[in-house]
Amino acid sequence: MLLPRHGRRFSMDDCIFCKIVKGDIPSIKIYEDEHVFAFMDINPVSEGHALIIPKLHAENLWEISEASLSAVHTASKTIVRAMKKAMGPVSVAAIQLNGKGVNQIVMHYHLHLIPRASDGEALKLTAWEMIPGDMDAINRTGAAIAAAVENDYDQKERK
Ligand code: AMP
Ligand code: ZN
Repeated sequence: MLLPRHGRRFSMDDCIFCKIVKGDIPSIKIYEDEHVFAFMDINPVSEGHALIIPKLHAENLWEISEASLSAVHTASKTIVRAMKKAMGPVSVAAIQLNGKGVNQIVMHYHLHLIPRASDGEALKLTAWEMIPGDMDAINRTGAAIAAAVENDYDQKERK
């Protein structure tokens, strides 16, 4: 789908990750298969920070096809195995952002693989403080989401 952006229509020709897949702009490729391309992030949060993307353009988790989604996440297992071999023992944060509101910068689905070596610095982005929430509010919001899920199922069944 074409989306308006900066006052003109967005084309996939403008997408930096589509350009990486086509080889129009350079990347440090680490893996490729029929559906997936993976390369090193050039602003790494930690040593080894890599990105996996579907070759077919999709903006986010809500738009990506099941085939692409499954291929990206299956490839992540191969890549993490390779990271472990190449870098030694690592734990890996697999992180994925959906929408500008949560800081998605490149609007082409991508899974970040952010390793932390066993002797490496803690990853700030995964070390959030556990602060007990307001249980009334958690209950209310949980109930609202669960009701909307039910409603969604009902509507699908009626179709
Ligand atoms: P986000 O959209 O916030 O999940 O993050 C986009 C990520 O893409 C950032 O971590 C960038 O460093 C990375 N990035 C943007 N352009 C390139 C590029 N040309 N090559 C490698 N990584 C990139
Ligand atoms: Zn794209």
